[in-house]
Amino acid sequence: MKRKTALVVGAGLGGLATALRLAKKGYQVRVLEKNGQAGGRLNRIRRDGFTFDTGPSFFSMSYEFEDFARDCGIKLPFSYTPVDPLYTVSFADDPQPYLLYRDIRRLADRFAGVEPDFERKMERYLSMSGRIFDATVDVVVRQNFDSVRDYVLSLTRVDPGLVQVLLRTFWKHVCTYFDSEEARQIVSLVSFFLGRTPFDTSAVYSLLSHTEFRHDGYYNVHGGMYEIVTGLLGELEKEGVKMFYHTEVTGFETEGGRLTALTDREGGRWTGDVFVINSDAAAFRGRVFGRKRFSEKRLDRMGWTMGTLTMYVGVGRRLPQLHLHNYFLGRNFREYARRVFRHPGTLEKPYFYVNALSKLNPGCAPEGTEALFFVVPVPDLRFKKNWEDREAVADSVLEEFSARIGQDVRPDVVFREVYTPEDWEKRFNLYRGSGLGLAHDMRQVGGFRPKNYDEEFANVFYVGASTVPGTGLPMVLIGSKLVTQRIEKAMAEA
Ligand SMILES: Cc1cc2nc3c(=O)[nH]c(=O)nc-3n(C[C@H](O)[C@H](O)[C@H](O)COP(=O)(O)OP(=O)(O)OC[C@H]3O[C@@H](n4cnc5c(N)ncnc54)[C@H](O)[C@@H]3O)c2cc1C
Repeated sequence: MKRKTALVVGAGLGGLATALRLAKKGYQVRVLEKNGQAGGRLNRIRRDGFTFDTGPSFFSMSYEFEDFARDCGIKLPFSYTPVDPLYTVSFADDPQPYLLYRDIRRLADRFAGVEPDFERKMERYLSMSGRIFDATVDVVVRQNFDSVRDYVLSLTRVDPGLVQVLLRTFWKHVCTYFDSEEARQIVSLVSFFLGRTPFDTSAVYSLLSHTEFRHDGYYNVHGGMYEIVTGLLGELEKEGVKMFYHTEVTGFETEGGRLTALTDREGGRWTGDVFVINSDAAAFRGRVFGRKRFSEKRLDRMGWTMGTLTMYVGVGRRLPQLHLHNYFLGRNFREYARRVFRHPGTLEKPYFYVNALSKLNPGCAPEGTEALFFVVPVPDLRFKKNWEDREAVADSVLEEFSARIGQDVRPDVVFREVYTPEDWEKRFNLYRGSGLGLAHDMRQVGGFRPKNYDEEFANVFYVGASTVPGTGLPMVLIGSKLVTQRIEKAMAEA
């Protein structure tokens, strides 16, 4: 019997994982990627002896990777290690950082004199986070929904005792447990990992605190996060999956309600029985398929996660005061959170995250140096169109960083590269440079998120951050499982 063929558009984690799942199910798979290197946001820069992860720098829910490997009948082609402390948080006027240990008793020591009775409060908070996690993950996250009705019905299975929590913002929620600004800001910081602030994120995402402290924690990959991609490419090669780089899909051909071919920027024509789009699920529908529901005007009105300015810096000296994952906060959290995504002026005193990959992987920087990766939340291209000041913004971040660690690193910088939202959009077709894709507002999750199957073409499917279940490496892996189930069902019915 002739093997079915699948064409995957995009070699991000979602595209690669789905390609492997389909290959293992007997599909002949080809992957088209607009860039010269696979990985999408999960990428790598190597220069002058330094190695930097470009986007993700840790992951949660390690069991989703193990589940993926089991489904594919492989041994996970990379190794990972737990992180503890999870990360550090430093405030502008306090030289002593908070080390976020998973052991709450140990963490409580740091909060002595700041948040009385921290341990008991945190236990109560985490117990509620655990309840929310247990009530929602299997019901909402690991499910395909055929309609909004289906989705709403599944929500009725959620413990009614949680409804009042789900209607609050994350910030309101933490305020009911903690009194100090420090505890409130540190505990709700995880909402930034979803690309928003605690003031516009639902309290349902306090379930992430459960994943951080109680459930599975965070992990780093030996050799850097890009080893995930290298490992997957090795597995795809074994299955005979063909990768085509420098191939950007820009057009399509149809016949009788089915997609017959996709066309690329150079005029190439690509056919398949099944098409899986790993390009942004909302933007691709609008920009390539020309769907009115996803016109630029409508896309601009949707909720998007933060724009990101990232900076990759090789520093010619060791910085012992840094840990692996470091957050630097100012002292105007509310004002900052209210303005950061819409008002470019906020960038003068940036809040930022610094990953020192060389702490865990000395091979990622020459002896006696550090490879640093900065993430600075910034307005996306809807709110700040002109990035000619990119180097000035980067300078101000390095100046602030130097002041905060008590060491002027600027004379020791031997390599520096900056990506603004313009670069993120241009490189990976991320809509308006939004780093994590569509936001997770209640009107954009589950049955309300762009679906993982196409509304018009019966043989087109989607995987990745802007379709179900959402953004982040484990979510995208779950998405690859959900879309494979969809494809199998559709093929069986065809
Ligand atoms: C700065 C930053 C930090 C992050 N940190 C973390 C973290 O610590 N932990 C975590 O779990 N997650 C993190 N994330 C989120 C995570 O990176 C994403 O959720 C995940 O990588 C998205 O994968 P994806 O499958 O949607 O594909 P993407 O990474 O978006 O890849 C899609 C691919 O499709 C290609 N493509 C697009 N359009 C076309 C086209 N028309 N034709 C051909 N190819 C096309 C792109 O070039 C790209 O390679 C971070 C993201 C960013 C930006």
